[in-house]
Amino acid sequence: MKLLALPAFIDNYIWMLHDGREALVVDPGEAAPVIEALQTHGLRLSGILVTHHHGDHIGGVDALRNVLHGSVYGPARERIPAPSIPVSDADTLAWNGLRFEVMEVPGHTAGHVAYWCPDMDGAPLLFCGDTLFSAGCGRLFEGTPSQMSTSLARLAALAGNTRVCCTHEYTQSNLRFALTVEPGNAELAAHARHCDALRRQGRPTLPSTIALERAINPFLRCREPAVAAAARQRDPSAHDAVAVFAALREWKNEFR
Ligand SMILES: [Zn+2]
Ligand SMILES: [Zn+2]
Repeated sequence: MKLLALPAFIDNYIWMLHDGREALVVDPGEAAPVIEALQTHGLRLSGILVTHHHGDHIGGVDALRNVLHGSVYGPARERIPAPSIPVSDADTLAWNGLRFEVMEVPGHTAGHVAYWCPDMDGAPLLFCGDTLFSAGCGRLFEGTPSQMSTSLARLAALAGNTRVCCTHEYTQSNLRFALTVEPGNAELAAHARHCDALRRQGRPTLPSTIALERAINPFLRCREPAVAAAARQRDPSAHDAVAVFAALREWKNEFR
């Protein structure tokens, strides 16, 4: 099975899985990059997964129905272009011999879901939309810091070799923030250099892995003393992990 990151808009990726015949896409914010990939590789579109209701994730769904032989799956708690199959926590779905488990991960939006495939060609795969980014996380548009912390903790508990497919190429700016929070993290500094090199070559920094994110992502590291101390510089009242998370998120919102 091939995993492709189709660039869309300025910094979105539409993830595509295909086996040379059948294709599945995740969060098609626009149809054109998907149509082009289907034609280039001679594929039939047979599934669409949607993580949440934002326009840059659903904008291409209606146009793709003309070529879709299969279903659109989307979060039960959000408005997704109809007809779609509503999915909730712990639901499972099958596509082309792969099994996906649905995880509700509220915070960025109220009904955001992630899709976790326990095994594709020997390692798990996660489509996490705008919840977990490499070295960062989504903004809290509809959820609370407590909800987002819980959602991120669930994702962080997945197997370390899980490939993390986020929807946005925000990694370099996230890494600048992460290095400000945790300047002494050598693995983080090394990964920032690696991503700078990838971007100079026009290559995606994704997929990441859960093991890497545990080591470099400040939003998954709220219990690390260095991260908590940095958050307390901004908000001295940030005593527990959720308050540290909230302080980091506020700080990142203003960070340039
Ligand atoms: Zn979003
Ligand atoms: Zn987005």
